[in-house]
Amino acid sequence: PPRKLSLITPSGRLTLGNHLGALRGMVAAQDHATCFFGVSDLHAMTTAHDPAELRERSREVATLMLACGLDPERATLFRQSEVPAHTGLAYLLECTALTGELSRMIQFKEKRRQAGGATGARASLFTYPVLMAADILLYRPEAVPVGDDQRQHVELTRDLALRFNRSYGPVFTVPEIEVPPVAARLRDLADPTRKMSKSAVSDAGVIRLLDDPATVRRKIGRAVTDSDTGPDAVRHDPVAKPGVSNLLELVAACTGSSPEAVAGGAPTYGALKKLATDAVVSVLEPVQRRYGELARDPGAVEEVYAAGARRCVEETGPVLYAARAAIGLG
Ligand code: ATP
Ligand code: MG
Repeated sequence: PPRKLSLITPSGRLTLGNHLGALRGMVAAQDHATCFFGVSDLHAMTTAHDPAELRERSREVATLMLACGLDPERATLFRQSEVPAHTGLAYLLECTALTGELSRMIQFKEKRRQAGGATGARASLFTYPVLMAADILLYRPEAVPVGDDQRQHVELTRDLALRFNRSYGPVFTVPEIEVPPVAARLRDLADPTRKMSKSAVSDAGVIRLLDDPATVRRKIGRAVTDSDTGPDAVRHDPVAKPGVSNLLELVAACTGSSPEAVAGGAPTYGALKKLATDAVVSVLEPVQRRYGELARDPGAVEEVYAAGARRCVEETGPVLYAARAAIGLG
């Protein structure tokens, strides 16, 4: 079977964007692919972090992944920091990556600005895309199911794999990005020029997987649209109408429809917001119910993590060994 890998950073409480962009596709792939789900706790330390909160979030993210349908019998869930090969390979890849290409990473530039400019950013924020390349390449996946915002990072991963293979021998599989057909980049409801992010400063436009129905209704009710009052105001046009298009994609992704079809059934912005609220609440309801059950037994989540770590140490050891040997170590 094909191999797939996807990572989520425990840098905040998971959002609907994380679910629709990445998690859902991975869960659907469990039946026909060998799936690895990583909770990338090391990536959560590239900006200011609180140790107790990081530990707590790492557990919460895993619990939510299980609540979303990740089945530890069929897929492997692991915490990145428990698999030493990740940092081991990252250094080897740093010796093939160029500072110029890392400087071009859009996310680095954005997060550096948020962290207070060049002098206020951690060195790990700069090198993190290389660690992410190691996270991926260690598992030799054919596909990386992620949201559209990760395109540049997966492209870098491919470049580093190709460069390493060409220079030192064929160690790595060169993976393909796999983005969902709709809602690959869900936008912030309060500022549709930005993507919805779990680490956003303001919560107003971010739907969390654990938001209750009243919160979902309020956030969608206040979602930014536009002042268009024409007869075809509800239409999918991401450039001219980012807010409305985002809501259409949201409903389409939640109900398995297309933005155009959703637009046909929603004559007004009010009707569209009502559709969106209902669609989101029905996607979240079963996840929250299951989360409530799982959260009562944190020991069970730790057992899943422990089994995942054992499996991943076995998986990654030979790949790191091959890379070390190829590059001239040992
Ligand atoms: P952060 O703000 O800390 O970067 P994030 O919400 O971007 O958090 P990540 O942990 O960086 O989440 O990404 C986890 C997965 O979720 C990735 O596959 C990413 O592409 C996907 N993802 C994140 N935000 C969205 C979004 N708005 N729409 C679709 N997919 C998304
Ligand atoms: Mg992100």
